[in-house]
Amino acid sequence: MIHSAGHLKDKIMSNQKNILIIGAGLCGSLLALRLGQRGYNVRVVEARPDLRKTGINSGRSINLAFSDRGIKAMRLVGVQDKVNQLCIPMNGRMIHNPDGSTLFSPYSGRKNEFINSISRGQLTALLMDEAEALDNVTIEFNKKCKEVDFETNRAIFRDHKTNRETEINAHVIFGTDGAGSALRKSYFLSKRFLFSYSQNYLSHGYKELSILPTKTGEFRAYKNALHIWPRGNFMLIALPNLDGSFTVTLFLSFDEGEYNFNNLTNASTVTKFFKKEFPDALQLMPNLVDDFFNNPTAPLGTVKCSPWHYKGNTLLLGDAAHAIVPFYGQGMNASFEDVVEFDKFLDDHNENWEETFTLFEKSRKKDTDAIADLALDNFLEMRDHVANPIFQKKRKLETLLEMQFPNDYSSKYSMVTFNEDMGYREAMTIGRAQDKAILNMIADQTINTNEDLSKTKLKMILDQILKETETIIEEDRLAKTMHY
Ligand SMILES: Cc1cc2nc3c(=O)[nH]c(=O)nc-3n(C[C@H](O)[C@H](O)[C@H](O)COP(=O)(O)OP(=O)(O)OC[C@H]3O[C@@H](n4cnc5c(N)ncnc54)[C@H](O)[C@@H]3O)c2cc1C
Repeated sequence: MIHSAGHLKDKIMSNQKNILIIGAGLCGSLLALRLGQRGYNVRVVEARPDLRKTGINSGRSINLAFSDRGIKAMRLVGVQDKVNQLCIPMNGRMIHNPDGSTLFSPYSGRKNEFINSISRGQLTALLMDEAEALDNVTIEFNKKCKEVDFETNRAIFRDHKTNRETEINAHVIFGTDGAGSALRKSYFLSKRFLFSYSQNYLSHGYKELSILPTKTGEFRAYKNALHIWPRGNFMLIALPNLDGSFTVTLFLSFDEGEYNFNNLTNASTVTKFFKKEFPDALQLMPNLVDDFFNNPTAPLGTVKCSPWHYKGNTLLLGDAAHAIVPFYGQGMNASFEDVVEFDKFLDDHNENWEETFTLFEKSRKKDTDAIADLALDNFLEMRDHVANPIFQKKRKLETLLEMQFPNDYSSKYSMVTFNEDMGYREAMTIGRAQDKAILNMIADQTINTNEDLSKTKLKMILDQILKETETIIEEDRLAKTMHY
């Protein structure tokens, strides 16, 4: 059962357990708010300065695709209306072809299904404000966790200002300190229990650029879309900001191909690259060269580990437990969903922390592993397949099916992004089989997307797809069991 924030406020102060949360990013701030609503004494300690005081420039800060799983978490803590005001709906992908033509491809055939662009800084600030408004939550800044003794529940922090070390004790410690988590590192280095850990980098990295608003504050491109310039081995994307700008991200190999991050070392090569590959974007980016050389290039990777917890003492959540590549727009959404799922287990296991952590991880890890794999799949889909004619036929058909049979059909993208009641693993299993079924049927011309698709014809196609999908799922299941 999910309790509302209001209901939980009545219970406040009944829980006197001290909780330490390492990292006040998106996941840590949400967790602080939720555990605060549950009445725990929550102390959050963050390595960076307070982003609300150092100033959030929404136009230039990273923005994120925010969708139903994240929205569900906002509902849980009662801030959905406030968060709505920070959102710009994106109804589909605007694909920019090399010849300058564009194609709008909706994310769903159902009108109420869209994703949103939101500023990381503004969303984090809102969650921090809400958490700090509770008497039993405090947030401290400029203190970086160095290590955690998870046997004795003590974490060591170094204060950036005084350079002094402090030790903080708590009944329970949560590591929401992102992909480079200090708690995870302590698990790994201690060798005191069987801790499995993998980190895999892509050969591609990313760099943020920008399209500034016009002098009168207007958007220079269509506002309600996620813009993509897919170019096979690399791509550019752009998401809108509330101030009329777009945050643009270039995903490119570090060392492969004619142009790569290692050889884009001067203004003329960067301009030549954009002129050749993204001429329409270049027209909107007179500030390209400055952005390119002022902004860092960062790597992209996937982190998987287990266990996430040590007994009932410590637990990793969010990117600290499962960092993923950004191509499904789900890293933050999944981290928020961690909090929603964890909250359910708190209800069920009544402060038996070890049991809560064990059962939560058992239920959750299959889903975070699945979204990690789906995000890697989507890297190929976005940079390459979205421009492929068969893929475009498939998307067109799926949009029609969702429009005509909204209760009977959902694409893989819709299941992952808009169906917050279906776990990522189930969405992956059904979605992958469905994709295979449709692509096979288009390739062998069982489905002809060029003919006039009446509702009756579409219904026949839908039945065929559903049947074929079931067969594929069953074959995959059998193939897996045959290995044993
Ligand atoms: C280029 C890019 C684009 C993305 N786009 C999307 C998107 O469109 N949609 C989406 O859902 N997700 C997206 N993501 C993923 C998303 O950013 C992460 O999944 C999300 O930020 C995870 O939240 P978190 O709180 O777990 O970690 P973080 O946001 O990394 O927060 C960790 C916090 O801990 C602090 N910290 C770190 N180390 C310490 C320490 N030792 N001591 C104390 N504090 C510490 C950090 O300063 C930070 O405040 C994207 C990621 C990237 C890289």
